[in-house]
Amino acid sequence: MSKGWLMALACAGVMIAGCGREDAAAPKDAVWLYPKDSVRPAPFTLTDWHIHIRGGMTPQKAAEREKHSGIRSTALENLGREWPLSNNVALAAFIADCKKVKGLPVGLQVNDRDWFEQIDPKLYGQLDFILADTMIMGVTAEGKPRRLWLPDVKIDDADAWMEEYTAHNLRILGEPVSILANPTYLPPCIADQYDRLWTEERMRAIIAKAIERGVALEIQAESAFPKPAFIRLAKQMGAKFSFGTNNFDDKVKNLSSWFSVIEQCGLQASDIATIRRQEL
Ligand SMILES: [Zn+2]
Repeated sequence: MSKGWLMALACAGVMIAGCGREDAAAPKDAVWLYPKDSVRPAPFTLTDWHIHIRGGMTPQKAAEREKHSGIRSTALENLGREWPLSNNVALAAFIADCKKVKGLPVGLQVNDRDWFEQIDPKLYGQLDFILADTMIMGVTAEGKPRRLWLPDVKIDDADAWMEEYTAHNLRILGEPVSILANPTYLPPCIADQYDRLWTEERMRAIIAKAIERGVALEIQAESAFPKPAFIRLAKQMGAKFSFGTNNFDDKVKNLSSWFSVIEQCGLQASDIATIRRQEL
């Protein structure tokens, strides 16, 4: 396929890669913009639903990235007692800041499991989406929420833990969330047992609940989760997907895993979720 043909499709709105980029004057050191040709064509419009406004990333940079890449941008930040948005006052300021960029969807990543009881319903009504992952479960010896990605997390009985973890996943899918981020995540100490621990029965339970609740399953850049077996099963069962990057600063991430999943699993426009705020 010639480059010219691709560009014509892109500018007709059929594909998104590269449209307008040739004309845009990007600062040379703009680390928040995708390098030329790193964004590949997709059979549908791509949206990054996991852009944190942190580490130098701003709503304005998100908007500029969208203009240069054609990948739609959004904005979110972490809500929770131990997180940057720890109360409704901080949340109100965050929403006001993001809304300065017209048309930018604004959301939250929710980290406390009673978030929907703590959030001001008026502020909730101003949000476009809620994203949650399953990577905080239980408590540490100090009584703090246990962050499963930290290197000191040890699990003695992986099978017993997996039962509890599956229930934790299902509980989160029961919350009024729009996106389940990093589905089938496993802590580093048991990640090498992924294929054994994520039995088809467990995968089906997660996928069925996501479908029932209208929750999108995220495909995250640079993440090992979920594996293609989960994505294929989810697609076959009728689940819908979203894409995300999950940045820590204002630098772009490598999107190659998005494009390989689209190709390997044959994702089409009909597999992509329409993301919206759920009823509280
Ligand atoms: Zn995140």
